[in-house]
Amino acid sequence: MGGQATTWHNWGGNQVAHPTAVEHPRDVDEVSALVKRVAADGRLVKVVGAGHSFTAAAATDGVLVHLDRMAEVVTSDLGSGLVTVQGGIPLHKLNTTLHELGLAMTNLGDIERQSIAGATSTGTHGTGRLLGGLATQIRALELVIGDGSVITCSPTEQPEVFESARIGLGALGVVTSVTLQCEPAFVLEANEQPLPLDAVMADIDSHVDDNEHFEFYWFPHTDVALTKSNNRVAPGVAPQPLKRWREWLDDELLANTVYNAVCALGKRRPALVPRLNTTAAGMLSARRFSDDSYKVFTSPRRVRFVEMEYAVPRAAVHDALAAIRHVIDRDGLRISFPVEVRFVAPDDIPLSTSYGRETAYLAIHRYRGEPFEGYFRAVENEMKALGGRPHWGKMHWRTADDLRPAYPKFDDFLAVRDRLDPERVFANTYTETVLGR
Ligand SMILES: Cc1cc2nc3c(=O)[nH]c(=O)nc-3n(C[C@H](O)[C@H](O)[C@H](O)COP(=O)(O)OP(=O)(O)OC[C@H]3O[C@@H](n4cnc5c(N)ncnc54)[C@H](O)[C@@H]3O)c2cc1C
Repeated sequence: MGGQATTWHNWGGNQVAHPTAVEHPRDVDEVSALVKRVAADGRLVKVVGAGHSFTAAAATDGVLVHLDRMAEVVTSDLGSGLVTVQGGIPLHKLNTTLHELGLAMTNLGDIERQSIAGATSTGTHGTGRLLGGLATQIRALELVIGDGSVITCSPTEQPEVFESARIGLGALGVVTSVTLQCEPAFVLEANEQPLPLDAVMADIDSHVDDNEHFEFYWFPHTDVALTKSNNRVAPGVAPQPLKRWREWLDDELLANTVYNAVCALGKRRPALVPRLNTTAAGMLSARRFSDDSYKVFTSPRRVRFVEMEYAVPRAAVHDALAAIRHVIDRDGLRISFPVEVRFVAPDDIPLSTSYGRETAYLAIHRYRGEPFEGYFRAVENEMKALGGRPHWGKMHWRTADDLRPAYPKFDDFLAVRDRLDPERVFANTYTETVLGR
């Protein structure tokens, strides 16, 4: 173990940090020894997953820890569907390994580059009105806490720790292993269709309630929404995946290569953005296919951007979308990236953005290098007025004082933090901002 000081950037390129050392522990004992050593020196520790958070959640000028040598499946039980994995396993490896075992995650977000511990620590979610975010699939956790000791927690073992640690913002300890409730592998049918935005919103409850997973992307400066509905096919029905050329055309060439060129042009010539979006929206076509669940849920995202996402009560989705449109029009913004809208079930995790309520998520983006702060802050004000909670891994400017009223169990989380990390070995600027010192 042991590494040099370095410069670290997140995926979005909007966060930079200068860790004094980089460590790659090989097992929980090495993590424990590392935390003890760093704590004794009065320094700070932060695990970085895949660096896919847009906030400074993973940024540290202390000791940066990669769990890339702790990225294996530890145990799996086909009967119960319980699978224990090391905290550093990337979702793409998890998905393919589960598939080989005949298992799958119940729900996933848009990509599979994140680590399991990084994704769950910030409340990463997909879409599906009856389904929670990824952290709701956790059944047990192993953590190295502030004094370097190793603890395990589950609904029956240290339940108050378990409750909070599922979405711990990296503030409670190093998550060294995660036990997930998986289910038998399944095939999803994807039905993607561009529709007029007003028609989608007029019928939004049926779209959301009649599909297992529904989301849409609205292209600013147009009245077009690309709807995506994913539903399970009956067991035993063979998948009908996209032809390789169609997948390459849609997901690589159009969604990444051409789209990157369009965004780059829009960045240089903002006045062209409405016309570019109209052209892009006009080129959208319907498609229907079926495939293994994880291949339908996730796709490659190579166009770099910066993102903010707010969770609002589901019933506020009309107001929230109208507010974003209003901000874009009022401030004369030229926004090339679509607004993504998803729906998630309530859960009981203290710092979950879906805690205690049916939730609509609205995500806004700007192409990398474009100014984002004015747009995001203006939208944040609107979302805050609607009772919005910001995604912990995506840009926002909220602080502990104004987050507390949004989370009924905020102080319960802080009490667990006081117990597990009284010396704040796992602190960084982000945790100090959103949780306090
Ligand atoms: C292209 C792209 C697409 C995305 N799509 C979605 C989406 O569909 N849905 C969604 O909800 N989000 C999405 N996100 C956000 C992303 O899922 C979250 O920001 C997630 O936290 C990133 O995971 P990571 O492994 O990169 O973690 P990092 O960003 O590296 O870390 C996130 C936090 O987890 C902590 N952490 C990481 N590992 C550990 C550990 N072992 N123990 C303790 N703490 C740990 C870090 O310290 C940090 O606080 C997307 C992001 C990008 C860039």
